[in-house]
Amino acid sequence: MEFDLIARHFTRATPGAVLGVGDDCALLAPTPGMQLAVSSDMLLEGRHFSPQDSPAGIGHKSLAVNLSDLAAMGATPRWATLSIALPQADDAWLTAFARGFFRMADQHGIELVGGDTTRGALTISITVIGEVPPGQALRRDGAQAGDDVWVSGVLGSAALALAYRQGRLFMEQIDAARVLPALYLPTPRVALGIALRGIASSAIDISDGLLGDLGHILQRSQVGATLEFAALPTLPVAQAYLHEKVAVDCVLAGGDDYELCFTAPAGKRDAVRAAAGTAGVAVTHIGRITAGSGLTVSDTKGQPLPIDHTGYDHFAT
Ligand code: ADP
Ligand code: MG
Repeated sequence: MEFDLIARHFTRATPGAVLGVGDDCALLAPTPGMQLAVSSDMLLEGRHFSPQDSPAGIGHKSLAVNLSDLAAMGATPRWATLSIALPQADDAWLTAFARGFFRMADQHGIELVGGDTTRGALTISITVIGEVPPGQALRRDGAQAGDDVWVSGVLGSAALALAYRQGRLFMEQIDAARVLPALYLPTPRVALGIALRGIASSAIDISDGLLGDLGHILQRSQVGATLEFAALPTLPVAQAYLHEKVAVDCVLAGGDDYELCFTAPAGKRDAVRAAAGTAGVAVTHIGRITAGSGLTVSDTKGQPLPIDHTGYDHFAT
């Protein structure tokens, strides 16, 4: 049963590998001179997705969040492994899951070369392997005082969708329809990460919220930052809800956006915009890196929003 299932759903041609699915190990030959970038992410039913979610969407998102880590490192995706626990061998579910997974894989030239399959509570664990030229990876520890802070795409859409789904934010249905794709079908910014090699001084992908994730860059780089709330890019539809504190929370600290937050020297603004053009992704200059520590965000009236060293305070009134 298990081998049949693997053969049917997870065995594809892997021209980029010496040996793919079917032996005790995959055999991979890295491009000579390149460094390997390796990352794993696990998705659990109940925590990262719910049983009613579309299996194709789960396949898409589980690979997308892993590709987002390669994007944040400036790495070119090459190979993935997929370990999956599922309560029973549900052929229709697996067919749809594999469709979502391989569509995302094909878009980014990543090949599934192995994994593990077992019975258990629905759990998906993916490891991705990418390549990056030595010294060119976009690390978290390279931000310098005076650098610009940038973000790709728009912020808060996925969190707004989640707040809507959980009944924490009322949205008109037509508005909700505009933010829901960000939650279920995130786009990893792979081309942007690659284009930012040699330009960005640091980068991270926004999986846990802008303030928390930028906070990781600040901590690793031992610097601070100032941001302006009004500069943060959002979907036009989000603007209509920003009088609600929960919506402001979504923009500043909402997870699941999978945009890139990165820093670059102020002298590289044209290069950043050219990289974004190459990647076909919008980027927005949202603030500046400062000497010392601390992250401040000023509101539209120039007043600092309530943030402490641990990030934005979700519980402040
Ligand atoms: P082993 O017992 O040696 O661990 P398995 O029976 O677990 O081997 O797997 C057989 C082959 O199928 C291996 O090449 C493994 O990498 C691959 N494989 C198992 N599950 C998956 C999966 N979900 N996706 C891709 N490849 C898988
Ligand atoms: Mg095994």
